[in-house]
Amino acid sequence: ATPTAVMVATGKGASLGVLIKGGNALQNAHKIKTIVFDKTGTLTVGKPAVVSFQLFCVISEEDFCGMTIAAEINSEHPIAKAVVEHARLLRQKHGFENNQLTEVKDFKVHPGAGVSGKIGEKAILVGNRRLMQMFNVPIGGEVDTYVSENEHLARTCVLVAVEEIIAGGFAVTDPVKPEASLVISYLRSMHISSVMVTGDNWATATAIGSQVGIDRVFAETDPLGKADKIKELQLQGASVAMVGDGINDSPALVAADVGMAIGAGTDVAIEAADIVLMKSNLEDVVTAIDLSRKTMSRIR
Ligand code: ADP
Ligand code: MG
Repeated sequence: ATPTAVMVATGKGASLGVLIKGGNALQNAHKIKTIVFDKTGTLTVGKPAVVSFQLFCVISEEDFCGMTIAAEINSEHPIAKAVVEHARLLRQKHGFENNQLTEVKDFKVHPGAGVSGKIGEKAILVGNRRLMQMFNVPIGGEVDTYVSENEHLARTCVLVAVEEIIAGGFAVTDPVKPEASLVISYLRSMHISSVMVTGDNWATATAIGSQVGIDRVFAETDPLGKADKIKELQLQGASVAMVGDGINDSPALVAADVGMAIGAGTDVAIEAADIVLMKSNLEDVVTAIDLSRKTMSRIR
């Protein structure tokens, strides 16, 4: 495209809340055949909330909530924030919100899995099934049923283990964005296929995927795994775009032919992307491609 055409399209994009960082992004976007979407915060609203909670062993709700808060308060993950908020509400409900919280020692973040630490002499783990497997915590039948049932309802489960015994769990929901399924079907009409990659588990990812009508789902992928998925799709011959919001999406945003960041996302993702969707609305994925198609057809 000529510098003038790029300038016009970039200006038009900016006025629509689609920030295009340079001519390459604009020239590549019209060739996109596959779009890979991150799940949390991209296809979903990204504001998880706890909808249920259950104890699996003899432990007081006070101890359970206190330990969960002590561990998760140190985590930046949105799921951790939802769990802390819910545990706080439970403490309030029972009138022990003013009781002293214990501090966690040896706190550690396990990306894509959860957190670990020690409260007094007790080892505590808060996270998903994978975290429990990493620490050889057995998942009994009752826990397994609770987790599976919730995952099939598109919820993510957070398990809390104390001394290698699962004490309880929370089910978290993060609703899909209202425009998600319409955008995906519109993309299909443009002969663009949609794929989801997420660090979350397969059951939850598949359930969310069918809610939005996505073509393919890849779950339990770490940040580099997301980038590998992009490269794999490129090797199959497609020009690939990635849409994401998290730090864990940045390698994939860089690997993609066009990386698009959700405006409400992390600075790291915004920096890694070629295009920023300032309104955080998925319809602007189509806006960006349209702008590129129009610019490129005017040139040829
Ligand atoms: P995504 O790719 O969907 O943005 P992440 O890679 O950040 O997901 O996390 C994947 C999964 O790891 C989450 O769905 C959750 O089950 C688990 N997880 C990560 N951090 C935490 C935490 N602090 N507390 C509980 N669970 C966590
Ligand atoms: Mg995300």
